Amino acid sequence: MKLVDLDFEPLILADAIEKRVKDIGIQLNKDYSDTKPVFVGVLNGSFLFIADLIKQIDIPCEITFTKLASYYGGTKSTLKIRDDIDFSVDIKGRDVLIIEDIVDTGNTAHYLIDKLKAKEPASIKLCSLLLKPASLQTKIDELKYVGFEIENHFVVGYGLDYKEMGRNLRDIYKKV
Ligand code: 5GP
Repeated sequence: MKLVDLDFEPLILADAIEKRVKDIGIQLNKDYSDTKPVFVGVLNGSFLFIADLIKQIDIPCEITFTKLASYYGGTKSTLKIRDDIDFSVDIKGRDVLIIEDIVDTGNTAHYLIDKLKAKEPASIKLCSLLLKPASLQTKIDELKYVGFEIENHFVVGYGLDYKEMGRNLRDIYKKV
């Protein structure tokens, strides 16, 4: 499969994603059963994951979004973070769960966690569909839910893009 100028091959199929997202949802329903959590979805890459995951949640919750980007259309993290949207839900004293598409170096996650901690929530945890353990630069204590651990591939599909292409794909593909 070709996107723009790069070739990709399947890595995680839609059925496996669906099953894993259901399992994470079951876990979240248990872990947050007596609190009313605030889910903070990190756009753009996690839009499908957020939508599918949130449909599995049957406890009272709020959902808000922020938009961060560190790739700027390439295949390597630039280590610069563009912070596009601040969000207005008051998270003071609330249990917050950040929903990310992928943790690569971990810089984006650290940045967002620090920013949200300043707003004094009761707790902050991170849920990421994908994690590249070999790429992680510092441990993230808040990372409690991970869909799939993958090797250091550049991946697209299920919300993730290459030069804004491929977000619509149902499966996740890796660069050949
Ligand atoms: P980090 O700050 O952890 O290095 O990178 C996090 C962000 O980089 C992700 O939210 C995602 O937007 C982007 N990213 C990291 N790895 C990949 C990848 O393999 N494919 C795509 N499309 N984006 C990635």
